[in-house]
Amino acid sequence: MKIAIYPGSFDPVTNGHLDILKTASGIFDKVIIAVAHNSEKLGFLPVETRVKLIKESVKDIDNIEVDSFEGLTINYAHKKGATVLIRGLRAVSDFEYEMQLSQANSALDSDVKTVFLTTKPKYNFISSSTIKEIFINKGDISKFVPEAVFEYLTKVYKK
Ligand code: ADP
Repeated sequence: MKIAIYPGSFDPVTNGHLDILKTASGIFDKVIIAVAHNSEKLGFLPVETRVKLIKESVKDIDNIEVDSFEGLTINYAHKKGATVLIRGLRAVSDFEYEMQLSQANSALDSDVKTVFLTTKPKYNFISSSTIKEIFINKGDISKFVPEAVFEYLTKVYKK
């Protein structure tokens, strides 16, 4: 059974992330989308909320598990029996950072391979930080995020 981990901040999860996830779920037997706890980066949404919103967004896809983890992604991959890490590429600007990250992970364990996927062009410009910026400035984000994220943010920030 080929298990892949899709690690990231997902703060919040976007349609770009979901597109990558759906592609991965068609390639691998099981895909675990895992929210990384980052002690150095104070998030927009709490990790538990990010996990909950992803769960609501992928509830119809059988071979996807949603989780969170602390520490090295490689260690988490070992714990889960995964041999593949999924990362998304949007533009050349993502490439350098992603390349470094994959090489660092490969230096830690060369049996765990990073697979890069791209989204449909219509999702390509979407990032969590762009979504936050648009939302905070009262723009319409409904086309860029799953319904669960849109409803949650609209409800919470109305208060
Ligand atoms: P991180 O903080 O680990 O970069 P993100 O949640 O920002 O976490 O992104 C997780 C992964 O998804 C990264 O590999 C990122 O490049 C990729 N990604 C994010 N948005 C998109 C998108 N619109 N299209 C393709 N890949 C994306």
